[in-house]
Amino acid sequence: MKIFLYDTFFIFNSVTKMGNIEAPIIGKDALGRKVEDLSVVSWWGIDRKEIEWYPKIEYNKCSSCGLCFVTCGRRVFDWDIESVKPIVAHPYNCMVGCNTCAMLCPCEAIKFPDKSYLRKVTTKARVVKKALAIVNSIVLNSEKEKSKT
Ligand code: SF4
Ligand code: SF4
Repeated sequence: MKIFLYDTFFIFNSVTKMGNIEAPIIGKDALGRKVEDLSVVSWWGIDRKEIEWYPKIEYNKCSSCGLCFVTCGRRVFDWDIESVKPIVAHPYNCMVGCNTCAMLCPCEAIKFPDKSYLRKVTTKARVVKKALAIVNSIVLNSEKEKSKT
């Protein structure tokens, strides 16, 4: 059985949610899917609100295209009808390490902290060590199950 590191992120998040807090629904994304308040779910054991990873908009560059608003599946952005601009309404719903909206923005108006900040946070949370421990326990359990059959 092959398990990729990314799978463990999903498993860990599920475990965290089941073990501790049920995240409340904060609204719907642009496609009408329910979105949870992920700011209450810790990130690899660190309070999400202690991690300053979220988009910042440089409004002087923003052309109001709306791409960030419609593509983010975590409802980080809301849309200010009066100014016709996005606003970062739920910053801690942003997935740590994601910068899709910044990549998509045609005006380079969205900024994130640099990679060194991300490295620091990942090291502090000992993400790789924890992920590998999860992978090892999954492999061990699966081998135990196999030996029973
Ligand atoms: S994608 Fe960029 S230009 Fe378009 S609304 Fe968002 S911030 Fe503004
Ligand atoms: S980085 Fe990803 S999760 Fe965060 S606001 Fe942009 S698209 Fe949404």
